[in-house]
Amino acid sequence: MKIETKLAQIGNRVDPGTGAVSAPIYLATTFAHPGLGESTGFDYTRTINPTRKALEEAIAELENGARGLAFASGMAAVHAVLSLFKPGDHLIVSNDLYGGTYRLIEQILQPLGITASYVHTGRMADIEAALTPATRAIFIETPTNPTMQISDIAACARLAASRDMLTIVDNTFMTPFLQRPLDLGADIVIHSATKYLGGHNDVLSGLVVAKDAELGERLYFLQNSIGAVLGAHDSWLLMRGMKTLALRMERHIQNAYAIACWLDARDDITEVYYPGLDTHPGRDICQKQSAGFGGMVSFDVIDARMVPHILAHLRLITFAESLGGVESLMTYPARQTHFDIPEDVRNAIGVTDRLLRLSVGIEHIGDLIDDLGAAIDYAKDKVLEHARS
Ligand SMILES: *Cc1c(COP(=O)(O)O)cnc(C)c1O
Repeated sequence: MKIETKLAQIGNRVDPGTGAVSAPIYLATTFAHPGLGESTGFDYTRTINPTRKALEEAIAELENGARGLAFASGMAAVHAVLSLFKPGDHLIVSNDLYGGTYRLIEQILQPLGITASYVHTGRMADIEAALTPATRAIFIETPTNPTMQISDIAACARLAASRDMLTIVDNTFMTPFLQRPLDLGADIVIHSATKYLGGHNDVLSGLVVAKDAELGERLYFLQNSIGAVLGAHDSWLLMRGMKTLALRMERHIQNAYAIACWLDARDDITEVYYPGLDTHPGRDICQKQSAGFGGMVSFDVIDARMVPHILAHLRLITFAESLGGVESLMTYPARQTHFDIPEDVRNAIGVTDRLLRLSVGIEHIGDLIDDLGAAIDYAKDKVLEHARS
């Protein structure tokens, strides 16, 4: 079955008693035992819940994995996965990593004796140079946020497998509709489902998928033991969003490509980061491993003083953190997501004071370009006027 079909059918007829087309929301925290030593398959809701189970089976099927697990947030999902490691273990991690994952590793795992090296995971030589006898995993995001670096998932997975290490991919930006890391040899996939999978900026959630049953069982043990599971209401809301993922992604990609080309042609925009542009260094690998280039575009304006004026003058696009929803959002990484990273480190990976990140929504492309164009023109006039006076 094709993925569009699997998505549309999520939760349909999972309740054989009623034949409900939408998965029922089971709020019960506990379930009656038919007798001593007997179970309906459900006992306590942290351990297993019928609504969450429908979601977990759906994401496992979408990612072609053996086991899916749903968490209260993307960070809870990352935390459960990184709880596989123990003191003395070392990780190799993408250097342009989601800020929350960086903070978790540096401020929570590092004091427990788990260390990480941050490298450009698009360069295999850089990964090899960072390997130590204690390295247990490669953790990648591809594309990265906000500079859209691309890593070769299959190459990372081959290297990891040859040294008995795990390959973990945060697939939030691409979703299983565009990229399925387990098919490329990865062991574990993580999602902040708050983003594209939910798709409507209204549910916080995280998902994990394990390649095989043994790894799935270890992760399930951690999910149940740590306890940051997704509630029944939110599980239902997430399934509701996921049903339209294919349609939404197609429009996100179409709009993002049009905006990237439009920005690229302007002389007041000095750099455009979008993996679908011919000039993007990761384009070929992205095309090889993904069914599309995604809906995220970052760009540098010619003068950092334009940024506050652009943000103040947007009328349609919302100045807000997060991404992946139907509404377009603009972020200023240097002052928001990457604020805690020292300026020289930030600049080295391209997160300068001139960089803006756009999560391109599914609105009409003409309206998006009108809004962005008016804001950039206004900002340029303001800054030039200021320079003249
Ligand atoms: C948002 C995000 C996370 C964290 O997810 P939450 O749902 O906000 O906890 C992790 N990884 C990536 C790539 C993200 O964009």
